[in-house]
Amino acid sequence: SNSVHIIGGGMAGVEAAWACARAGVAVIIHEMRPKTGTFAHRTGDLAEMVCSNSFRSDDDQQNAVGLLHWEMRAAGSLVMEMAARHRLPAGGALAVDRDAFSRDVTRAIRSHPLISVVEEEVTEMPGHGLWIIATGPLTSGSLAESIRQITGAEQLAFFDAIAPIVYADSIDMDVAWRQSRYDKGDTEEERTAYINCPMTKEQYEVFLDALLAAEKTTFHEGETAGYFDGCLPVEVMAERGRETLRFGPMKPVGLTNAHRPEIKPYAVVQLRRDNALGTLYNIVGFQTKMKYGAQTDVFRMIPGLENASFARLGGIHRNTFINSPTLLDAEMRLRARPNLRFAGQITGVEGYVESAAMGLLAGRLAAAELQGETLPAVPATTAIGALLNHITGGAVAKTFQPMNVNFGLFPPLAEARGGRRGRADRYKGYTDRAKDDWAGWLRPEAGAQ
Ligand code: FAD
Repeated sequence: SNSVHIIGGGMAGVEAAWACARAGVAVIIHEMRPKTGTFAHRTGDLAEMVCSNSFRSDDDQQNAVGLLHWEMRAAGSLVMEMAARHRLPAGGALAVDRDAFSRDVTRAIRSHPLISVVEEEVTEMPGHGLWIIATGPLTSGSLAESIRQITGAEQLAFFDAIAPIVYADSIDMDVAWRQSRYDKGDTEEERTAYINCPMTKEQYEVFLDALLAAEKTTFHEGETAGYFDGCLPVEVMAERGRETLRFGPMKPVGLTNAHRPEIKPYAVVQLRRDNALGTLYNIVGFQTKMKYGAQTDVFRMIPGLENASFARLGGIHRNTFINSPTLLDAEMRLRARPNLRFAGQITGVEGYVESAAMGLLAGRLAAAELQGETLPAVPATTAIGALLNHITGGAVAKTFQPMNVNFGLFPPLAEARGGRRGRADRYKGYTDRAKDDWAGWLRPEAGAQ
């Protein structure tokens, strides 16, 4: 057939449809609401914002989400257009009147001559034709089951378990040191894969008290089925006994403090590399439901992390997502069934903006494919390219967890001639480079040098 089919009319689905239509390609959106609902959606409108009414920072010079806004606008994003129309005062954030926003997205989609919307739940993975699966974190059970049959049970998760992720360059290496437990590994890189933060008994006890006292978030009604199959939150482990963590993720065995070899640490917090670039490290075993403010307070008590900046904080949510680094090719197609593309939160990006952005890209790629064109690779220096690169290759597949956009995903900049750049200067460098490269990708003839 000569149309693209999209399952799911959420943030990613509407952007994918809009991108196809802008390219002159007919699309059919299959959306199960309002006939079949989820525990989080309230309406039958497309692109419903299920929780916060904010698209986060709109600063396109100093913030990676703001840069994503910029790139989406440059590519004709429907979500960004409607967000601008219904913007509410919110300082530097792009917050909107959520009902008016979704209503207008729905109206734009439904009235576009190249887009039709079918109200139905798709219960099985389609056979032939070009499809984009954008069913989000709350993908219906029957479709999830059908996805599992293609990908294998290990490659589809129903909950995320996100440990906080720290920028490597904000870890104090005068306190922390690099070493794998028992120096395991065949190469020097393997033997130094972890960054270790030591604790004395006093520090451990104080840390434990803070962890137990910290404010936690709770699950929604209907959200928790199967939750304890996965990883336990670090605070739940702590509740089981004062020694549990010391015999679990914080065990000090097989590690020698490189700065103070004579002092045996009472407990050790380990951080593991989170991306190929080596710019991001996750705190191993520290998935948590602590509130964000509490997380920064508690985690900065860890020796070596006093000045840590966090690329993302931890969380545990009901979240259907596939292991994209194993399953998808560089154009977001299922390797095993290249006529099926995935987009949005189900690919392991996290957030309204990230989901919409990946939908926009999937729509462009699908439209080009239908028209027999091949688009050049998206530059990894752009926010959209950095996200794509992360989920389809840059992330460590074995421990893959959903990711929001952040500058740690970007290839490093060349250092300034006078030495290391300051943070503001670096962020400006990332966003300037991204804008040039994204404009060049959108208009190859004009952008090529
Ligand atoms: P969705 O927007 O959920 O769209 C998927 C669509 O597919 C839905 O309309 C659904 O009805 C439909 N669908 C599902 N299965 C089928 C099927 N089998 N057949 C047909 N249609 C189907 N992100 C933020 O940035 N800020 C937040 O505050 C925030 N809060 C969240 C709160 C909750 C409870 C959840 C679950 C997620 C939250 N997220 C938040 C994360 C995420 O960014 C949003 O869920 C975002 O909407 C994801 O976009 P999406 O297009 O991938 O999925």
